[in-house]
Amino acid sequence: MNGLFSVLIFIAGLLLGSFFNVCIYRIPREQSIVFPPSHCPSCSKQLSWLDLIPVFSWLFLRARCRYCKSRISFQYPMVELFCGLIFLFLYIIHGISGTFLTYAILCSVLVIATAIDIEHQIIPNGLVLTGTIAGVILVLTGFSVSWKDALIGMLIGGGTYLLVALLSQLVLRKEGMGGGDIKLMGMIGLMIGWRLTVLSILLSIYAGGIIGGLLLLFRVKKRGDAMPYGPFIAIGTIVSIFFGNELIQWYLQTIF
Ligand SMILES: [Zn+2]
Repeated sequence: MNGLFSVLIFIAGLLLGSFFNVCIYRIPREQSIVFPPSHCPSCSKQLSWLDLIPVFSWLFLRARCRYCKSRISFQYPMVELFCGLIFLFLYIIHGISGTFLTYAILCSVLVIATAIDIEHQIIPNGLVLTGTIAGVILVLTGFSVSWKDALIGMLIGGGTYLLVALLSQLVLRKEGMGGGDIKLMGMIGLMIGWRLTVLSILLSIYAGGIIGGLLLLFRVKKRGDAMPYGPFIAIGTIVSIFFGNELIQWYLQTIF
């Protein structure tokens, strides 16, 4: 690990986070993610580089557009900072390696999917497809898990949630799991292999139960409200890739 390189990776994460904010806004609105250049969604004024410095612009402008003074969501600096930190930690743990590249791409897809799912209750097919193609290339070029591990991971990931969806359709007569969640989990399995996939599924179910329960308890959500599941998949997966091997080892030692 190299100090200067750590700073560069952190800055790259911040800048990519800034681009992901554009994706989060534009993909569900079916707009191009490259053209036109960034503009304020309220007054349509094109933004200068001074308005686009990750985290700092938001702080200096006190969360308001420089031109029309409309509020800029807290989501913008949060996504930027989160990506900067995730990239930095992945680099500290894995160095520049195939694993770093795989997890960085995976986390990027998860951040975008989470923010879109919270706002629109969808996980865009194009986003998951892009991640899947990247995952296949990484597996075939030997930068990620073995192809067998990837294939089993994809079947377990997608298959488990497909089963949950079918069962809740049959037994509860309601949609328990959306198609987007099933495809996203399949893509994750492909990228992290079957062991971490099993853990990720368990953790996402726990996260959904705990956080969902708290949201009901504090009346943020009512019973019967749509609850996006993508964020829980993202939490389970990010915890798995950072602490998965330790958690699995601890679990096996405790049980046996
Ligand atoms: Zn504006």
